[in-house]
Amino acid sequence: MGTIIADNIRRIRASIPQGVKYVVVSKYRPLEQLQAAYDAGERIFAESRPVELSQKAAALPKDIQWHFIGHLQTNKLKLVLPYCSLIQSVDSIHLMEAMEKYCSAADISVNILMEIHIGREESKQGFTEEEAYGFFTENRWKNYPHLCFCGLMGMASHTDDRNLIEKDFSKIHAIYGKILNLYNCPPSFRELSIGMSGDYLLALKHGATMVRIGSASFE
Ligand SMILES: *Cc1c(COP(=O)(O)O)cnc(C)c1O
Repeated sequence: MGTIIADNIRRIRASIPQGVKYVVVSKYRPLEQLQAAYDAGERIFAESRPVELSQKAAALPKDIQWHFIGHLQTNKLKLVLPYCSLIQSVDSIHLMEAMEKYCSAADISVNILMEIHIGREESKQGFTEEEAYGFFTENRWKNYPHLCFCGLMGMASHTDDRNLIEKDFSKIHAIYGKILNLYNCPPSFRELSIGMSGDYLLALKHGATMVRIGSASFE
């Protein structure tokens, strides 16, 4: 098992340019598999459930950087924020308000990505491109002094049509570039988290600075 994971990770690493972050999506995987990925050299792991994240963070080495990529309910912040170096899935103003309040009371700040709804799925969470652009052009990000706006996260449509996937990635890359070019862009804004196991090579063509790879890392 450990060798399969080490081989997968070596192969994936070799396909990702230097400077692009490889986030190992470890949700639902047992600790032994995370340990194998750790032993293969990986230090960024992503989880999507608060309790699972806090338990794994307590059990595994302390130099792991944990990212959160699931829908985060405001009553779960205390299980997530103390452990995470990045919350990738900030999908509503309501959540930002709650995070700002929590961080202000705890006197901490937290790194976040805004989750953008680009795919065609009706049910997906996240901001539209217009909402995200408005948020930055109107300086609304300055209302959240304890949130450090590090960039955007998105998921392409769930399809085998590679042209559609590339269209989605190119749309989010364009909005990322527009925000980055604003004179009042937050100084921390520099990450574009797109691409998963099935489409990360396409995401790399469209400006990904961070790819989130689960199944291909472990299976
Ligand atoms: C599960 C998940 C991934 C990883 O998906 P794989 O196809 O297993 O690589 C990436 N991003 C998010 C937001 C996820 O929920």
